[in-house]
Amino acid sequence: MFARTAQRQFQSPHLRSLARSFSGTAPAGTDFTHVVIGGGAVGLAIARALASHSHSSSPSSNSNSNSTLLLERHPHTGTETSSRNSEVIHAGLYYGPHSLKTRLCIRGRSALYSFCARYGVPHARVGKWVVAQDEAQGEALAGIHEVCRTAGLGVPTRWVGREEARRLEPEVRALGGVLESPETGIVDSHALMTALLGQFEESGGVLAVNSAVVGVEALGSRAGGDGWRITVRDAATGSESSITTSTIINSAGLGAADIHNMIVPPDKHVRLYYAKGNYFSYASSTPKVRRLIYPVTAPGAGGLGTHLTLDLAGRMRFGPDVEWVESPSDLAVNAARLPAAIAEIKKYLPSIDESALTPDYAGIRPKLAPAGAVATGGGGFVDFHIRKEDGFEGWVNLLGIESPGLTSCLAIGEMVRDMLYGSGKVEGSAALGT
Ligand SMILES: Cc1cc2nc3c(=O)[nH]c(=O)nc-3n(C[C@H](O)[C@H](O)[C@H](O)COP(=O)(O)OP(=O)(O)OC[C@H]3O[C@@H](n4cnc5c(N)ncnc54)[C@H](O)[C@@H]3O)c2cc1C
Repeated sequence: MFARTAQRQFQSPHLRSLARSFSGTAPAGTDFTHVVIGGGAVGLAIARALASHSHSSSPSSNSNSNSTLLLERHPHTGTETSSRNSEVIHAGLYYGPHSLKTRLCIRGRSALYSFCARYGVPHARVGKWVVAQDEAQGEALAGIHEVCRTAGLGVPTRWVGREEARRLEPEVRALGGVLESPETGIVDSHALMTALLGQFEESGGVLAVNSAVVGVEALGSRAGGDGWRITVRDAATGSESSITTSTIINSAGLGAADIHNMIVPPDKHVRLYYAKGNYFSYASSTPKVRRLIYPVTAPGAGGLGTHLTLDLAGRMRFGPDVEWVESPSDLAVNAARLPAAIAEIKKYLPSIDESALTPDYAGIRPKLAPAGAVATGGGGFVDFHIRKEDGFEGWVNLLGIESPGLTSCLAIGEMVRDMLYGSGKVEGSAALGT
């Protein structure tokens, strides 16, 4: 569990008194201006952006006030997907030239490097190699390189020649070519979230932990036009209390479909599909590898392939694989997947010591499409869903925030703020089902 900065925490029974202290300043007679549901990296970044927004007009009034409440169901922020991932700062190679994932990843990457440098969040621009093992994979790499080279996205890639590859990473096998992404890096996700939370609270934002949202009601004849009533259950006592807010941001990760379905009629309900990724730690210091190594992604795999990442101490770990599960709580790492992972790792790192690999942890990708749908750029690609939903006032809805969500978190925070306060129209996702 990560250390925290000075942090005010409120349990659900205190929400009413908390709300009373804000209600004199919140617009439209609501208790809060913004309620963000979900204290992962993305919810924290959104809450920070909204709390620090110095505005002359709120979405529903001319009030100068601004109060932001972040609701998290666990005793601490950041204990779900945001602390169960590869901690890679992605460059933006994979999601096609026009997707929201690409746009937010590239913007988010640059914002994240600046943020980390400025606020002392441990990170390193270690670079990554995507390694092909045959001609077909080499062609797939050439396709990625071509998009990055021609689309003007600001995603540099470079071919690494055979000799150079052998010199720099003698243990890595890449029979079909190596494409380098120098902008890829790693970040300490816990330290990042601690910094985001600290800034959120310094801007006057309030975190309520142990506060599971169990009901949401849009108020007014125009749904949400008079704000929103949110019912929160206290994890310790089971008691429920409700608060009102002018705007609501659903950033609940694996729980986001449940929040969505509390708001819309049954015929508009959505479901998420859960793709677990198992990780394996490596207890030996040989072979030594100095950069991230990714295989070429298999079409429709649901992930980027079991790759080699480094932590900030230079230790190697491997994963995540893709295991479709029924429950978002199925977070136990599946040791039975180790032999398959070893087979994948040996394709690019043949000298790995199998006995030094042990099951480590797992995270779950909240997918908007089931197994079999293509997960990276191309036909069937599923983008982030970030949208002010039609027919509702003051609701920004985030669904399917899988990778590269960590990289994109600051850009998503800016986007949500601009959706509520920007002067121009911020292009969000298309409506679901269109
Ligand atoms: C295996 C794996 C590897 C990944 N690797 C990378 C990577 O290397 N780089 C990268 O950029 N991205 C990566 N990602 C994606 C990244 O981790 C996520 O996109 C990001 O962490 C999502 O953050 P979030 O805040 O949306 O969700 P979460 O971290 O899941 O936070 C959502 C929060 O909402 C809370 N919540 C849910 N329901 C309720 C409720 N009813 N009431 C109150 N609170 C609620 C939860 O408790 C949780 O804390 C990876 C993801 C996975 C699964």
